[in-house]
Amino acid sequence: MAGYDYDLFVIGGGSGGVRAARVAAALGKRVGIAEEYRYGGTCVIRGCVPKKLYVYASQFPEHFADAAGYGWTVPEASFDWQTLVANKDREISRLEAIYKRNVEGAGGEAFHSRAMIVDPHVVHLLSEDRTVTSDQILIATGGRPAAHPALPGHEHCIFSNEAFDLKELPKAIMIEGGGYIAVEFANIFHGLGVDTTLVYRGKEILSRFDMDLRRMLHETMEKKGIKILCHSVSEWVRKRPDGRLDALVSGGKVLTVDQVMLAIGRIPNTENMGLEGIGLEMTKTGAIAVDEYSRTNVDNIWAIGDVTNRVQLTPVAIHEAMCFIETAFKGNPTAPDHETIATAVFSQPEIGTVGLSEDDAVKRFPDIEIYRATFRPMRHTLSGRDEKMLMKLVVDGASKKVLGAHILGPDAGEMAQLLAIPLKAGLTKDDFDRTMAVHPTAAEELVTMYKPTYRVKDGERVG
Ligand SMILES: Cc1cc2nc3c(=O)[nH]c(=O)nc-3n(C[C@H](O)[C@H](O)[C@H](O)COP(=O)(O)OP(=O)(O)OC[C@H]3O[C@@H](n4cnc5c(N)ncnc54)[C@H](O)[C@@H]3O)c2cc1C
Repeated sequence: MAGYDYDLFVIGGGSGGVRAARVAAALGKRVGIAEEYRYGGTCVIRGCVPKKLYVYASQFPEHFADAAGYGWTVPEASFDWQTLVANKDREISRLEAIYKRNVEGAGGEAFHSRAMIVDPHVVHLLSEDRTVTSDQILIATGGRPAAHPALPGHEHCIFSNEAFDLKELPKAIMIEGGGYIAVEFANIFHGLGVDTTLVYRGKEILSRFDMDLRRMLHETMEKKGIKILCHSVSEWVRKRPDGRLDALVSGGKVLTVDQVMLAIGRIPNTENMGLEGIGLEMTKTGAIAVDEYSRTNVDNIWAIGDVTNRVQLTPVAIHEAMCFIETAFKGNPTAPDHETIATAVFSQPEIGTVGLSEDDAVKRFPDIEIYRATFRPMRHTLSGRDEKMLMKLVVDGASKKVLGAHILGPDAGEMAQLLAIPLKAGLTKDDFDRTMAVHPTAAEELVTMYKPTYRVKDGERVG
């Protein structure tokens, strides 16, 4: 549209926004994008990427211990938190520059500014104190950790954002929450030698995952020394004269720690952006309401990624961006497909999962077959580590379609990515059975579980 400064203006330079801006610019569209903090967004700056680097860092003590069974003598190891933080910073700065360069290289214009919508075609760039006009506007402002203002002493607590950049590694930490971010950080801090307590109000960590994975991960984490208090919440947090924190948890127990981290959910970034002023519809949870094509109730305004609170994962934000491009600029309306999304929890051991949990499958199908194996991974035979691996397939008894695949153990995330292909393709257990194993691997178990461990018929476990 010649009358506007841009064909597309994107607000938010994270996973979804950068992808949409880059691809639209490469199509020859006039594209502007505004990022108020750092290009790369949550995933690159304070999410997936630094998290995975810290997971690697935290795994070394177990590797050193496991090496003994293989004949190695490892001198006493020491760890320097500041080195890890500095090296992480260097890597994310490198990625940040690549993200920005990719947009500009494709012909887009990247601004460092907070942006607000003042009219359906007008965006105000606060740092530049000027307005720009655009035919289409895409909101990709992501989310942030949910605060807990009702908790007395909440001002002493940190969130995942701060956890990455603590000046010092705490000696003891309490983490409140039971989702994947809480669980991953509990494993990271424990692996780095921090006395770690996880406090979760639910009955078992990681709701929405298969119950077998949840229970077995819980047990394994406890065996490693992580304290997990379920059915529990913090009631207050107080600063002590020595600078440490006391936290009262349900049941009257007071934990003395150096940090309390809250990981109790994430909320969409929609405030102070002028959205009410243009009548943009929100959902009950404060996310931007969109139709199946990511279009808001204002015709030329779209929203993707965490700000829409559909599935809060980086590949989902990127997929939604690509579908948006097809719909808005290629005349090929494409709705994002949110079915059968593989995912990982980078706990220790790791979870990799795709498709329906046993409990969800039982609700939808009258006859379910469960194939389940637990075993000691080969690498732990000589290391002596007392840790089991779990593999589980959930199969529809009538069609033999594999509905869910759930793994706990080394490299489970990598396996989930590959399992996502047969599950997405709707392949059956017979296809798994016809597939030759790769030996010796842990993954071979997935194609060698020939007989169901048990069935669930009309909700009743049989056999
Ligand atoms: C600790 C943690 C670990 C995670 N681990 C994983 C993982 O392992 N795998 C995975 O798939 N996902 C993971 N995620 C989730 C993933 O990071 C998000 O799903 C993803 O980043 C969402 O992308 P997005 O584009 O919607 O938003 P974001 O990446 O959050 O980007 C939004 C951007 O918009 C900017 N912004 C906000 N408001 C404005 C404004 N008004 N003007 C200008 N700019 C604005 C923000 O500064 C931000 O940079 C993790 C998240 C966290 C917090």
